[in-house]
Amino acid sequence: RIYNLGSINWDQCYRVEHFVRPGETLMSSAYALHLGGKGANQSAAAAKAGGQVTHIGCVASADSALSKLQELGVETGGIYQQDQHATGHALIQIDDQGENAIILHAGANRALQQDWIVSQLQSAEKQDWLLMQNETNLLHESATLARQKGMQVAFNPAPMDRDLTLSLLDKLDLLIVNQIEAQDLTGASDLDTAIERMQQQAPDLALLITLGAKGACYCQGNQRHSVNAFKVDAVDTTAAGDTFIGYFLASLTAGLAVSDALPRASAAAALAVTRAGAIPSIPSRQEVDDFLAR
Ligand code: ADP
Repeated sequence: RIYNLGSINWDQCYRVEHFVRPGETLMSSAYALHLGGKGANQSAAAAKAGGQVTHIGCVASADSALSKLQELGVETGGIYQQDQHATGHALIQIDDQGENAIILHAGANRALQQDWIVSQLQSAEKQDWLLMQNETNLLHESATLARQKGMQVAFNPAPMDRDLTLSLLDKLDLLIVNQIEAQDLTGASDLDTAIERMQQQAPDLALLITLGAKGACYCQGNQRHSVNAFKVDAVDTTAAGDTFIGYFLASLTAGLAVSDALPRASAAAALAVTRAGAIPSIPSRQEVDDFLAR
C-alpha cells in the first residue's frame, strides 16, 4: 500500500481579458473548477495504475474532493476534515494569450496535526511506502514515523526547497525530482554532476530523475536504469511528472522490478501529455496496457 501524505487543492480557473488590476473588478468570460494539488494528482495516478492508495491530508468538512478522490479509487479515510481552515485552493486567471496569474492558498494542506498522521500510519506495514511532496506540513515527523515502522519513504520535493530537502535526505529511500529540481538541489549545471553530488551526499538513497521529453533515469549505487520517453504529440504536460510518479510507485508496490516499472510509468506519462488537464489526463491501467502492446 502507498500512504500518500499530500495536498488537495481546488483549482478555480477564470478566463479574463487581462489580469485584474489594483482596485478593478473584472468579469471573467469562462470558469472551470478542477481537483488538483500534487498530492491529489499523485494519489489519483497511483490508484489508476491499480495501486492501493491511502491519501493522508486535510480538507474542510464534507468537501466534495473526498467523493471525487473515492471515484478515482483512492482510499480517503486518511483525509482529516475540519472547519478552521479552507480546503487548499488556487485562483487562476488565464488571459487571452494563455498566460496565467495564480494565487495559491495552502489552507488545510498545511494544517495537518501529528496525532492524525500517527493514527493513520498505525496499520502500515513494512512493505508499504510513504510518499510525500512539499505541499503539506509535518514532512520530517511523518518520515521519521514511517521509518520507525520500517516503511520505505519517497519524497518529491515540489515545490523545491533546498534546505528542507537536504535535511530530509537521511530519512528517505527514494528521492524523485525533475531535471531542474536535481540541478537546483545540487547547484550542478548538468545531470551527471547532479547525480554524482547527490550520491556523494546520500550514498544509499535511490534517485528517480524525470527528464521531460528525454525520459527518466533511476540510480542507486552503481545501478543505473534509463527509460526513453515515448514519442507523442504533446498537448499539455500538466501532471506528467505526477502521473509518472504515481505509476512508478504503484508498479513497485505491485512487485514489478524498477526496469519494468520505468517503461510503464513512461507510457502513462506520455499518454497524459497527449491530453489537456491534470487528473482527467491520467490514463487508466487498461489504456497503458494497450499503449504498451501497440
Ligand atoms: P515534471 O512534469 O514534474 O516537470 P517532466 O517534465 O520530467 O516532469 O516529465 C515527467 C515525465 O513525463 C517524463 O519523465 C516523461 O516520461 C513524460 N514526458 C514529459 N514530457 C513528455 C513529452 N513531450 N513526450 C513524452 N513524454 C513526456
